[in-house]
Amino acid sequence: MRWARRDNSLFILAVLLPLIAGSIFGVIEQRSSASAPAVNVVNSAKFRQCFDVTNLFIYSTKNSNCPQGYLFLGDGALSESATATGVVEEIHPQLEERFNTARLFAAVDGISLVITSGFRTLQRQEFLYQREVQIRGSESEAAKWVLPPQSSHHPMGLAIDVNYPMDRPGALWLERNGWRFGLCRVYANEWWHFEAVSAPGVKCPPLAPDARVDLAGSQP
Ligand SMILES: [Zn+2]
Repeated sequence: MRWARRDNSLFILAVLLPLIAGSIFGVIEQRSSASAPAVNVVNSAKFRQCFDVTNLFIYSTKNSNCPQGYLFLGDGALSESATATGVVEEIHPQLEERFNTARLFAAVDGISLVITSGFRTLQRQEFLYQREVQIRGSESEAAKWVLPPQSSHHPMGLAIDVNYPMDRPGALWLERNGWRFGLCRVYANEWWHFEAVSAPGVKCPPLAPDARVDLAGSQP
């Protein structure tokens, strides 16, 4: 009988444990929470990110489609070409959808995310730019903070300011976790400014020093 028990033990060790471990790691491989330590960083666009906004987990898959009921936030960056045609009057819908999804995940961590400035008309951007020129003393200095209307991504519907000016810790959550949703902080001098410059699940590019990097033909 002792042998029989040993055989059973060996059977458990050899067969059942790998199965149990496999099922656990299988779940970890497929599901991740924005707030949890990164147990499985999917750092490639070849994995499609699918969002369960009811149960708040992210499902990574190589399949071309997300399972039914999962939210797909796109598999690319939103660039100026996204608004090359047509009149823009609001935040790009996919940028808004990415932010709304991130907001739900942030709430689990007790973080409140609010867009404090999103789409701006060209007139509004011109006003803000001219005001900044007055404050900073030159167009060059002003453009570090507020771009002229034709260069800013706010009138294109491709930029959002989050939790500005009152809540930097909240924006920091988005800076750390936004890549999961395809949202990135882009300027070193603006902790509040986010754009959809990466695919969901792909790490964000390095910060640009300031907004002048977006001036046509100009580098800071
Ligand atoms: Zn901004």
